[in-house]
Amino acid sequence: MQTTFGSGQPGRENTDLAFTDPLTGLGNHRRFFDKVDRLISDRADDPAPFTVGILDLDGFKPINDLFGHKAGDDILIQVAMRLRASMDGYSTVCRIGADEFAYLYPMVFSEEQAAEKSRMLIEILSAPYDVGERTARLSASVGCSLFYSGDETTEILINKAETALYHAKRSGRGRVVVYTREMEEAAKRVTRIEQALRRAVSAGEVEPHFQPIVDLNTRRTIGFETLARWSDRDLGMVPPSVFIPIAEERGIIGPLSQLVLRKATEAARSWPKDLFLSFNLSPSQLVDQNTGLHILAILDRTGFDPRRLEIEITETGLMTDPASAEKIVEDLRRVGIRVSLDDFGTGQSSLGRLREFHFDKLKIDRAFVSSILDDRPSEHIIRAILAMCEGLGMDVVAEGIEEEAQADRLVQFGCAGGQGYLFGKPADADATLGYLRDSYRGALRAKAI
Ligand code: C2E
Ligand code: MG
Ligand code: MG
Repeated sequence: MQTTFGSGQPGRENTDLAFTDPLTGLGNHRRFFDKVDRLISDRADDPAPFTVGILDLDGFKPINDLFGHKAGDDILIQVAMRLRASMDGYSTVCRIGADEFAYLYPMVFSEEQAAEKSRMLIEILSAPYDVGERTARLSASVGCSLFYSGDETTEILINKAETALYHAKRSGRGRVVVYTREMEEAAKRVTRIEQALRRAVSAGEVEPHFQPIVDLNTRRTIGFETLARWSDRDLGMVPPSVFIPIAEERGIIGPLSQLVLRKATEAARSWPKDLFLSFNLSPSQLVDQNTGLHILAILDRTGFDPRRLEIEITETGLMTDPASAEKIVEDLRRVGIRVSLDDFGTGQSSLGRLREFHFDKLKIDRAFVSSILDDRPSEHIIRAILAMCEGLGMDVVAEGIEEEAQADRLVQFGCAGGQGYLFGKPADADATLGYLRDSYRGALRAKAI
């Protein structure tokens, strides 16, 4: 490419080649950037916005694998032809990646119009493709962004369309998402939280809180679940439902989890020895083979007995890479750590997984418990889960118990373990120690009587 431009007088043909995708004959990413650059300078004095879109074929790779590369190329050529045919005299479409196309609509001024025109492209691409004797079907996802002000560069505009495309892909196939200012605000807030969280983790400022888990028949506390708590100087209290997913997505979950586990096991060392400590692991930790080693190293350092530790994982955590998850779980179980299946019934529950994996305990999600008194289906589901756990030899804990009547009903159905605000809200290490001292004194007094 260098020689084309460095040869003094570039031939028109060579310059064109440098801007053309050889397979489809459409412009390539350089052509696209060039077109957008030019339009931005044309619009410097013209207040009219314009639209950039990025279209990504859904599941093109499996089609390529199934029909072969030659057929894959044929499909891409047909896609390019359809897209080109659907452009008007002002618009441009280019191929900017293997199965990624970009288009420029200089005369599309609003988000609604951008979404409508993009949906039409998806529709056009959804008609079957001839592949020799056979036909193939494709869907596509689109992310769009609109140019509003002279501050935006081509790169910014395309990055925004890529962000919108990422949202479209995450929400399913065949979707169109237009980049909005709210998305920008949300993205900024996530970045602020990420930066504050990184600082907090290295300064050791995330704290474990503990929520009691009780024997429903005797109401005796049998263990505690560790729940991470973080309060930032500027952001205030940030709930784990917000910061845990950000920690996962931005690669902070490993150090965060190690910090919380270290503090939690240090606190739990002074509890009565028959109490267990439960700890949540995130899905991304189950694809990282270092997770097991880190946990064992922390237990070694704090001197906490692994047989008193339980790990809570969710079905989502097992789905990404079941083989990796199984290996981590096996390594942990070998030293006596017990494994619970958390939030059962809400994720993509697969009973098959209960056959493949052995869990020591199952936690019934709060969604069922909160409706146990007034919703017949929830009642039946809970009874079925309890029967299944009995058959499979698993302990059960019902989560989110807030009322006496719910606890009574669960006892009546034969549920042995419970957790929820009725028995105690999550509390910090000092308050938990105080709670244990009080209940221990209470038990001694009861014995003396
Ligand atoms: P989870 O593991 O299912 O934890 C139970 C959640 O239910 C906790 O929310 C707890 O405070 C809440 N809860 C308990 N009893 C009741 C009740 O009676 N009523 C209601 N309304 N809520 C109740 P929290 O602390 O906000 O944590 C949310 C989630 O964040 C946890 O769900 C867990 O998935 C995750 N999480 C928290 N700490 C950690 C951590 O250290 N590591 C990882 N990986 N995830 C964590
Ligand atoms: Mg949990
Ligand atoms: Mg749970």
